Amino acid sequence: AATSVAATATATATATASDESCCAPLPVLGRDVTVPLVTGGEVSYAALDYAASAPALQRVWDDVAAYAPYYGSVHRGAGYLSQLSTDLFENARRTVEEFLGCRPGDQVVFTRSTTDSLNLLAAALPADCQVFVFETEHHASLLPWRDARVTYLNAPRTPGEAVATLERALADRDPYGPALVCVTGASNVTGELWPVRELAAAAHAHGARIVLDAAQLAPHHPVSVSELDVDWVAFSGHKLYAPFGSGVLAGRADWLQAAEPYLAGGGASKSVARRTDGGVDVEWHSTAARHEAGSPNVIGAYSIASACKALTEAGFDSLVAREQELIARVREGLAEVPEVKVLSLFGDDAPRVGVLSFVVEGWNSSHFAAALSAEYGIGVRDGLFCAHPLVRTLLGSDPQEQGECGAPEAAPGEKSLNAIRVSFGAGT
Ligand code: PLP
Repeated sequence: AATSVAATATATATATASDESCCAPLPVLGRDVTVPLVTGGEVSYAALDYAASAPALQRVWDDVAAYAPYYGSVHRGAGYLSQLSTDLFENARRTVEEFLGCRPGDQVVFTRSTTDSLNLLAAALPADCQVFVFETEHHASLLPWRDARVTYLNAPRTPGEAVATLERALADRDPYGPALVCVTGASNVTGELWPVRELAAAAHAHGARIVLDAAQLAPHHPVSVSELDVDWVAFSGHKLYAPFGSGVLAGRADWLQAAEPYLAGGGASKSVARRTDGGVDVEWHSTAARHEAGSPNVIGAYSIASACKALTEAGFDSLVAREQELIARVREGLAEVPEVKVLSLFGDDAPRVGVLSFVVEGWNSSHFAAALSAEYGIGVRDGLFCAHPLVRTLLGSDPQEQGECGAPEAAPGEKSLNAIRVSFGAGT
């Protein structure tokens, strides 16, 4: 089984580099990397772990390199480089605003990552806010709300059941208080698409707001805040081919501007004065800068904007078409191996992005992934993918069980306690 799965994966990885049948992959860094094999010799590295971190687009790298000599402090200097950097930073904000189809009045806050964005929103929740989140979420979406009144919703088995589950939970909520629903657009485990528009409609029908975790969706699909009618969206640069430590939270300004700054410091403060009683008075900015205290990551923001432009120019239609062709080929190959079970919450035919997890009966997933790397030069991920309750549900184990990411391991011949994930994207 290991040999045929690995052979399938190898064929997929190597065939994709020269495949002309759909459309060309976008140039990314790392395509020429070769890695040593335990069996001797070297092989071209097949990066099939885009869902964790995607390689930088060559275009992003070139843009960053062209800007690097002009790098300067933003917002604070009269000097040429400072002015230039400020322009690039603020233009990057506008590019992201456009990329996300923001509404007038929406704000784009540059953060460190999706995790950071969702924690920022959690820190900005109004008092007594109720939060609704499916247990199937990535930990970045599952955990930031623990200081609020959280309702964890059971794993649905169809998109329709997801909407019905949310509607039932919202119908029971305190109708007068604020409420927030947090949902992922595409699962980082199964790649399955969630019914975001329908969930947003259900949230709004019950007076709740909704934040979309687009960490896995944005690299593979257009995400429009206004078309999906979500209140906020969060994503990470490093999954969108811009690995320079930046992320985005975009959406409604009111909750963000009513909240204390996420970090207190320069940049977030408009005016600071000593009080006669010895204390300090602060007037905070009411723009995105309120939550961007400290010197911002201008290269990170610039690289995200560069990736947004590159993806828009390439066109999501052709990127999606290529990815769907690849995922179909991986599925066909895996279907030939009876020991392989592909993990799915919504059923085998559910639409998904280029992310797929599986287990191989009788094999320890960690050993299997290590063998793919050592013997074939294929980089995949193994473990519970920071979505422990979901993976345990999919593997038929207890979702309440404790255990570290990637552990516990099954011995060869025993039932898998973790899984293998293959993922790809615009550069595959
Ligand atoms: N949400 C989803 C669905 C993810 O897949 C991930 C990362 O894997 C995150 C959130 C967290 O992203 P980051 O680690 O960039 O904060």
